[in-house]
Amino acid sequence: MKEIVELTGLSQPELISFVETLGEPAYRGRQIFAALQHRRLRSFDEITDLSKDLRARLNDVARPSSIKIESRYISSDGTRRYLMKTHDSLPVETVFIPEEHRDTICFSSQSGCPLQCTFCLTAQLGLLRSLTAGEIVEQVLIALNDAYGVGVKPPRGTNLVGMGAGEPFLNFDNLLKALRVMADRDGLYIVPNRVTISTAGIVPKILELAEVADRPHLAISLAAPTDELRNQLMPINKRWPLEELLKACKVFEKSLKPGERFTFEYVMLAGINDSEEQARQLANLLNRHGLKVKVNLIPHNPAEPLPYRPSADETVDRFKQTLEAKGVHTYVRRPRGRDIFAACGQLAARQEKLNIATLNACKDTTTPGVTTR
Ligand code: SF4
Repeated sequence: MKEIVELTGLSQPELISFVETLGEPAYRGRQIFAALQHRRLRSFDEITDLSKDLRARLNDVARPSSIKIESRYISSDGTRRYLMKTHDSLPVETVFIPEEHRDTICFSSQSGCPLQCTFCLTAQLGLLRSLTAGEIVEQVLIALNDAYGVGVKPPRGTNLVGMGAGEPFLNFDNLLKALRVMADRDGLYIVPNRVTISTAGIVPKILELAEVADRPHLAISLAAPTDELRNQLMPINKRWPLEELLKACKVFEKSLKPGERFTFEYVMLAGINDSEEQARQLANLLNRHGLKVKVNLIPHNPAEPLPYRPSADETVDRFKQTLEAKGVHTYVRRPRGRDIFAACGQLAARQEKLNIATLNACKDTTTPGVTTR
């Protein structure tokens, strides 16, 4: 079968090399890169400054886009949530969050997820497959087009967070490649400094990211102050327990730029991880490792069949005060888009009414997973 090249995942130099294989001059590569990444065009036929002949040849060997919106939900607070579909019909979730001074786009790195965090609906899908670099970039292109119109310059800056479905560090190479493509001045021009990637704690990749020269910010989903509880909530902890994770964070801390801190995300689950004693344990854990971090307390979005409820506002406030009394900078993330199931994995599970057994049958077993012994 003929291999179709996905152009949205190619950097500008790679796109130039690609058009040269078609016998075209380098400037055509630059032209196509700008059409796809800056003008955000989604088909070769829209690039009318290319000859008809070249457009036809491109259609034969490449594709300018590979995912499309299946459904969109617009929240009363302006949050736009998308269920997209890959060319092979796998679900991809993306959220566009408008704020006063910037927009934030939350993208997915995988369809489904191989980790088994018990508070997350995506976990119930298992891993369907990791997304390509192009599929990661396209989520951003599509969300901007949908919010503002094709190619229209956003009125505010755009921040990206890799906190959608999937574990980004299990798709590390494609993630970094997508970030390099999006940082290009002639394209989206979203530099890594405007990107935060959240991991469940894949220790070797935290250490690897520390070595990346132009890297995004790091957030770590913690969810528990002890191994005993974290093993239950995030089984990946059995592979890389808290001590190992925090030692890696200490190494990563050496790569921080002045004023930069990394973030621990802590989802607040009523009666599970939200007591004052647990807040003290968390502060002691972070302080013992001498980590200069900030903690984001995240309200849990309840969803059937997950067995958790969100913590009450007063409980969240008390938890925050206890952490701050021990010197830990703490923020409470405001819930966005609750009326459109804007928590990780909720669309795929609700809207699609996915049959887990069917999805399991089409899992990509060749994608490296993680053993959570
Ligand atoms: S919380 Fe993130 S890492 Fe955990 S199962 Fe859900 S998508 Fe995967």
